[in-house]
Amino acid sequence: MAEATRLRKRTIEDLDIASRRVFIRVDFNVPIVDGKITDDTRIRASLPTIRYALTRNATVILASHLGRPRGHRCDALTLRPVAARLSELLKRPVKFAEETIGASAQRIIADTKPGNVVLLENLRFHKGEETNAPEFAEALADLADIYVNDAFGAAHRAHASTEGITQYFNEVGIGLLMAAELNYLGRVLDDPERPFVALIGGAKVSSKIDVIHNLVERADTLLIGGAMAYTFLKELGLPVGQSLVENELLETARHIMSRVKTRDISFELPVDHVVTFKTDGSGANEVLEVDNPAIGNRLGVDIGPKTVEHYSSILAGASTVVWNGPMGIFETDVFANGTKGVATAVAAVSGTTIVGGGDSIAAIAGLGVKDHISHISTGGGASLEFLGGRTLPGVAAIPDRLADKSV
Ligand code: ADP
Ligand code: MG
Repeated sequence: MAEATRLRKRTIEDLDIASRRVFIRVDFNVPIVDGKITDDTRIRASLPTIRYALTRNATVILASHLGRPRGHRCDALTLRPVAARLSELLKRPVKFAEETIGASAQRIIADTKPGNVVLLENLRFHKGEETNAPEFAEALADLADIYVNDAFGAAHRAHASTEGITQYFNEVGIGLLMAAELNYLGRVLDDPERPFVALIGGAKVSSKIDVIHNLVERADTLLIGGAMAYTFLKELGLPVGQSLVENELLETARHIMSRVKTRDISFELPVDHVVTFKTDGSGANEVLEVDNPAIGNRLGVDIGPKTVEHYSSILAGASTVVWNGPMGIFETDVFANGTKGVATAVAAVSGTTIVGGGDSIAAIAGLGVKDHISHISTGGGASLEFLGGRTLPGVAAIPDRLADKSV
């Protein structure tokens, strides 16, 4: 089916990893406050691939970046706490290599029996990671026999551990998390079940412009919310007060809306909104229709109840939903109703639902409806680039499956 036609990349399951040293590029870029991991979602997301490799008795060598140390060792950005957390989750020891590459890392790996796990220190302690330096890529490759990339969140960067390194291995593939991401997001672009509804919100049109362009060509309905709605509303001549508008994108907004007409798809903007003087929720606020000039110098901070109802009824008929970006300043409780409303509607959809973007995922998690979503994309910027139609260097560096395995 669609799944098989889309998933062309060679995966860890296509490789003979039994009892071999497998280098797995993971995304362990987790928030750490005072040495404590505050959200281990990304570590958990990597478990299926790690467990799979362990069931094949591979020696698992894990590598990730953490934060932005800019090529220098930095105690606050050590991956050591991640090794401890991973060990708890896997219920087995995880060795930590304090040097990412070189003799000391080599020794630790040589002392590790198949079926065990080593985590290397932060890749970005070395300048060569982000500059994609061949020496650094080769030094990483020297640690293992086989390469697997499971770091979808880092796949939009051509770094040593995601791109350069692949040249130094004969056997390379993607991990199970990466495969799931490509499968879900890829199907949305290539062969979505219809009706396909895209729900796009968040702060700026500019950060999601490619995604909107790409989805206008593919979706049946686009529902727009959040601050980005105001650039469209202003272009339509509606009163937007002090709402966030990207004036330099008004023309782009006009082009998008004319393309929508040509394609004869639905493009929905909020019909009502919550307006206020204070974005922190401390002031008075009021629900107005979007054409009501009473907004004055106030700004729109959330979609209103009529919009929630309208969007929810459209979502209820969808077979595929992609959601990226909150409908308002949901971090402020009084302005979270729109986001909560659509999150509830997305969670109720029985078709395929995909949620991406840090803030939208936080909203879904806060409501406790994560389990009702088909796929939560951990990719952040990578998901946006992929949905925007760009090739991800970390994905392009992995060859397709062998012809005899492609169906
Ligand atoms: P995601 O992380 O899900 O991709 P974005 O980062 O694009 O989402 O946007 C999220 C931000 O947009 C949030 O901080 C939210 O407060 C802000 N936002 C949403 N609606 C508005 C609005 N009407 N005015 C100002 N900011 C908004
Ligand atoms: Mg965000």
